[in-house]
Amino acid sequence: MAPITKECDYLVIGGGSGGLASARRASGQWGVKTIAVESGRLGGTCVNVGCVPKKVTWNAAATAETIHEAKAYGFSVKETAPFDWTTFKHKRDAYVKRLNGIYAKNLDNDKVEWLYGRAHLLSKNEVEVDLHDGGKETIHAKKILLATGGHPNIPKNIPGSELGITSDGFFDLEKRPEKVALVGAGYIAVEMAGMFHHLGSETHLFIRHDKFLRTFDPMIQDKIVSEYERQGIIIHRNSSQSKVEKAEKGLKLHYSDSSTKEGTLDLNCLLWAIGRAPEVEDLGLDKAGVKQNERGQIIADEYQNTNVENIYSLGDVCGKIELTPVAVAAGRLLSNRLFGGPDYKDAKLDYENIPSAVFAHPEVGSIGMTEPAAREKYGDKVKVYNTSFTAMYYAMMDPEDKPPTSYKLICVGPEEKVVGLHILGSGSSEMLQGFGVAVKMGATKKDFDSCVAIHPTSAEELVTLK
Ligand SMILES: Cc1cc2nc3c(=O)[nH]c(=O)nc-3n(C[C@H](O)[C@H](O)[C@H](O)COP(=O)(O)OP(=O)(O)OC[C@H]3O[C@@H](n4cnc5c(N)ncnc54)[C@H](O)[C@@H]3O)c2cc1C
Repeated sequence: MAPITKECDYLVIGGGSGGLASARRASGQWGVKTIAVESGRLGGTCVNVGCVPKKVTWNAAATAETIHEAKAYGFSVKETAPFDWTTFKHKRDAYVKRLNGIYAKNLDNDKVEWLYGRAHLLSKNEVEVDLHDGGKETIHAKKILLATGGHPNIPKNIPGSELGITSDGFFDLEKRPEKVALVGAGYIAVEMAGMFHHLGSETHLFIRHDKFLRTFDPMIQDKIVSEYERQGIIIHRNSSQSKVEKAEKGLKLHYSDSSTKEGTLDLNCLLWAIGRAPEVEDLGLDKAGVKQNERGQIIADEYQNTNVENIYSLGDVCGKIELTPVAVAAGRLLSNRLFGGPDYKDAKLDYENIPSAVFAHPEVGSIGMTEPAAREKYGDKVKVYNTSFTAMYYAMMDPEDKPPTSYKLICVGPEEKVVGLHILGSGSSEMLQGFGVAVKMGATKKDFDSCVAIHPTSAEELVTLK
């Protein structure tokens, strides 16, 4: 075995949301000798190929919507050139690069030593790092955190599937594709389809069943599917793909769907958004005896303990709830528990009632149980409040140009405790954060009703539901 070249109390593998949060808390707050290792770019998925560049692109798409809507408010807005995807992409890249620099500075400020290289376990206390600029380090660590995240999948059994890109490749596109197909029904597929469409691409969305966002409340599924169709996104239901090949324009996709048995589509770009896999291939989990589930994800308990005493894991590589704030919170709480003394000896993340948003067009916000899940658990103790209306913002628009707004509150028992809240419409992601606090505190319908409405807003409908 190579001689030990470094020693530390806490070694964090993965410089993404969860790893960085945990490393900084351990060193910056608790003064623990910490080393973090990152093989790609600091900030991980969220900063480089996830939330951040996605939201900036969503903002561009929302601006396109606003330009369209401005006419209804009396503005004579005329676009004199198409959306400049290339310039926008380079500005977005520069913003992300600035963030990478800020992340590096934050690590320095918190006195985390960080290495740029690929790490793999040699044993339960030893890690080898292949440094990017050559050479190796062999590190002995008392405790190790595995926060290596995940990567997007490409189907293995479809000839030519490698000609398509994934969400990572979306952020590399130098030009806007004229015609694009996305395969997938999760939030990444839905968000990217919305962005392509509003930025001017002919957009096809291939889904396996007849709805997308299938883990969300049925109200969300129904409304967003019909709204996307109303906007002109072409949805291929009950679809499958059999082959992808190079063609004159770019690619030819062979597919079947509910209306076509053997269809082909000429495309400029095909994007697979069919799920993500944990980033564990070369991590050496077997060398330390770390257990994985049948999907290859690392098994960690509610305290982020793996089955190996001094090895912990969190974030996407565990696959529990794959969101940045979940990884960040789990990372900070783990460091508090491990290093923060008796006050924090039981610190752990509460995975219940975690709010999430989908940056679709319109936005979606969701916390707690869906209606089917609540009915299955609570039966006829469930009471549901619904409303659908046209937000005042759209009052100036033609009737056929008005996106929907729909809210649903799921309550349980005689006290009508709110166990689920699902909202769809402009501003939903911002709205949900505040309502999330109420749900997390155990609010009842009466609590909602006792909060005086803010008028005129869409959110007021949630405190006046009948
Ligand atoms: C397109 C897209 C949009 C998203 N949008 C949102 C959103 O709007 N809101 C939200 O909350 N979440 C969003 N997410 C999810 C979010 O990005 C992840 O949940 C989050 O980044 C997970 O953090 P993590 O620390 O677990 O992993 P990651 O951020 O993936 O970090 C893991 C890091 O480990 C590094 N690594 C892996 N193996 C090794 C190794 N052997 N040695 C050294 N380093 C290694 C990787 O390079 C990576 O940087 C989105 C994801 C995608 C793909």
